[in-house]
Amino acid sequence: MPFSSLSLELQQREADGLLRRRRVLQSPQGVRVRMDGEDVLSFCSNDYLGLASHPALVEAACAGARRFGVGAGASHLVSGHTAVHHELEQKLAEFTGLPAALLFSTGYMANLGIITALLGRGGTLFADKLNHASLNDAALLARARMMRYPHGDLAVLERQLAASTARRKLVASDAVFSMDGDIAPVPELLALCEKYDAWLLLDDAHGFGVLGKNGRGTLEHFSSLLAPRPSRIIYMATLGKAAGVFGAFAAGAPELIAWLVQAARSYIYTTATPPLLAAALLESLRIIAEETWRRERLAELVDVLRGGLKSQRWRLMPSETPIQPLLIGSSQSAVRASENLRQRGILVPAIRPPTVPQGTARLRITLSAAHSVADVRQLVDALQQLENE
Ligand SMILES: *Cc1c(COP(=O)(O)O)cnc(C)c1O
Repeated sequence: MPFSSLSLELQQREADGLLRRRRVLQSPQGVRVRMDGEDVLSFCSNDYLGLASHPALVEAACAGARRFGVGAGASHLVSGHTAVHHELEQKLAEFTGLPAALLFSTGYMANLGIITALLGRGGTLFADKLNHASLNDAALLARARMMRYPHGDLAVLERQLAASTARRKLVASDAVFSMDGDIAPVPELLALCEKYDAWLLLDDAHGFGVLGKNGRGTLEHFSSLLAPRPSRIIYMATLGKAAGVFGAFAAGAPELIAWLVQAARSYIYTTATPPLLAAALLESLRIIAEETWRRERLAELVDVLRGGLKSQRWRLMPSETPIQPLLIGSSQSAVRASENLRQRGILVPAIRPPTVPQGTARLRITLSAAHSVADVRQLVDALQQLENE
């Protein structure tokens, strides 16, 4: 069967302004990167704390490689679970204030593993409409029923929970929504889960390291969730964003973690991540906890951006996190704005459907503790000029 039908689809995407392209980075990740041969100021990455190319992490990775080599060589259940993976899991549990933690290779795989291990055909996943794709894909793979509720609409969620006769109920939500930057109403979600005896899976990919005074994430952000942490919470976070490295983990009750080791297929049937990454992550956790200035800087930069952008046509969406989306509307306009910024040496991605709902294409501005106030002012000035053109 020839692939010509695919070329037609590709052409259609191009015509609709939806064709995705990769850009080639010739430098380490950072706020100033060399991309496709040009030096640009980047507001693109999820490296919120500026740790992805931090010398102390690089050094820890090298030391980890010297001690454990580069490859894990096997899955965790066979012979790939090294002492440094084990130590990292203990440190992650301590850091998040939860009883136990389990490392996964990626956040995508963690969500697949958690949801398929907990829900089968008789289970129902209740999901915010703006949840990350991996949570939705997981429900399909689990063959569970999926009920989606409008973004943040707790009244609809409550009706769905009340009407459900599912054997197992799992409410899943991004803790910080990846394309909007707003924070989920976690205490209210938890109260509903308690009332209707459901589990609560919090995907804190964008809160871990960023929220809370000590960077412990969304659970620290909401003081009502401080220790002892409610035992029906399944906490999941990624380690490739603010933590600056790679990987993800689940944390929660000891029985939960023990069950995931038995039943999470994306944990069992895959090679353990290189132990050198776990070594780098131990260093990352130390910096996240100690260097509170990184979160203070982020808060200051959010203020500079929101205070500086007196936009008429385009609107910054409500967000107190380093994800600061500027709503544009049509995909073509968003792409054009992104290209115009690029010509001014500034990199901000246009996020289009199907990643976000139709008609809500946006510039997804992300801030990093490695940005200076002057960097953000440069972005504000450029956006202001674009609007007036
Ligand atoms: C990035 C992201 C993931 C996936 O994590 P990876 O480690 O990149 O696979 C999962 N959930 C959310 C909300 C994310 O933003």
